[in-house]
Amino acid sequence: MEIAVIGGGIGGLAAAVALAQRGLGVVVHEQAPALGEVGAGLQLAPNAVAVLEALGLRDAVEAVASAPEAVELRDGLSGRPVARVPLGSTCVARYGRPYWHVHRADLLAALAAAAAEAGVAIHLGSRVAAIADAGGPVRLEGTAAQHADAAIAADGVRSAIRGAQFGGTSPRFTGNAAWRALVPAGRFGAPPLPRAATVFMGPGRHLVAYPLRGGAVWNLVAVEERAAWTEESWSAPGDRDALRHAFAGWAEPVPTLLAAVEDCFVWGLFDHPPLRSWAKGRIALLGDACHPMTPFLAQGASMALEDAWVLAAELAARRNDPAAGLAAYEDRRIARATRTQTAAARSGRVYHLANPALRGAAHLALGAASRLAPGALTGRFDWLWRANVVGAAATD
Ligand SMILES: Cc1cc2nc3c(=O)[nH]c(=O)nc-3n(C[C@H](O)[C@H](O)[C@H](O)COP(=O)(O)OP(=O)(O)OC[C@H]3O[C@@H](n4cnc5c(N)ncnc54)[C@H](O)[C@@H]3O)c2cc1C
Repeated sequence: MEIAVIGGGIGGLAAAVALAQRGLGVVVHEQAPALGEVGAGLQLAPNAVAVLEALGLRDAVEAVASAPEAVELRDGLSGRPVARVPLGSTCVARYGRPYWHVHRADLLAALAAAAAEAGVAIHLGSRVAAIADAGGPVRLEGTAAQHADAAIAADGVRSAIRGAQFGGTSPRFTGNAAWRALVPAGRFGAPPLPRAATVFMGPGRHLVAYPLRGGAVWNLVAVEERAAWTEESWSAPGDRDALRHAFAGWAEPVPTLLAAVEDCFVWGLFDHPPLRSWAKGRIALLGDACHPMTPFLAQGASMALEDAWVLAAELAARRNDPAAGLAAYEDRRIARATRTQTAAARSGRVYHLANPALRGAAHLALGAASRLAPGALTGRFDWLWRANVVGAAATD
């Protein structure tokens, strides 16, 4: 069976590796002239680590990952600690696997190396414009024509295949923009924060900071609510003064962190209402192409990794019937990914509460939960982090 994968992002490459490791022929079409990811960090929860482990990438990714001890929530205006969600050893004890922070480029490099080793063909500068499915093998049209037994569109939130094949609408602006910046640790006299992930919460915005590459760089993600996204492009070079202005008046170390930013980019955060179906005949969607979500649960790439594993398991179990394999993939994935998408959309709200009384009450409740039952806050993510798609057998 030969499978065409459209898109060489984290989702597409993971799917290519998983399929090729099961002995299926895989060709990846990536429109960009080189594989690449935005210069930013990525959080990988135990459910994602389980997939990387099953792909044989545990050691390669662990070598470039950091394992934070906790997520610390702080009030951005006062600087006061609000709550602590233990990760580190708590995660390993509770879920059997760690929680990691990685540089996106490092994860993509590990996936690309595994793809090369598994014999995946990667066509760069190859844009797929359309897929024709006439009941037999599918035909890809674009920079290069190709026939394949099945096509997987891992072409991201702006997926052209989703619109053409699954009737999806245009992505919708979620009302949030995100600046992303990497700051070399050498720009700070002393480490500005403990080696945790710290979330500074405030009215209509929040800032996340965590170290990458053994503490050599700090990853900053600053999210601000906006009425509309007026930039022509989905991402644009960010104005660092506008970033500092958005967080003016916040307590230390926020001013110190933002003063050290030299270059940043700003993204409009877009998503798409949950789809009713992702698989049709021999064509299926994967990753952000089918379930783009806000980054507030840090699960978009992790869901794409889970998709990749399940897709490969189900297709390999039905080598003579790719359409049935893709239907089984959709069946196993759609409820969980939709639940995550919905939960991600809700979870940003508590960070951004504008009403001081409501914010105070929410922070008190979080603080009490964190003090009275350490581990309980981590437990709120059990449904998400404990799931191990790798352990489940392919469906009959
Ligand atoms: C601010 C922010 C922070 C985030 N943090 C986290 C986090 O901590 N943890 C986490 O798990 N997730 C996180 N996410 C989500 C995560 O980045 C995405 O869910 C993930 O990268 C999606 O991967 P993908 O492979 O599905 O799509 P993409 O990464 O968008 O890849 C799509 C690829 O397809 C290619 N392509 C598109 N169209 C075509 C075509 N027609 N022909 C050929 N190639 C094509 C593109 O060039 C691209 O390389 C975050 C997102 C944002 C915005």
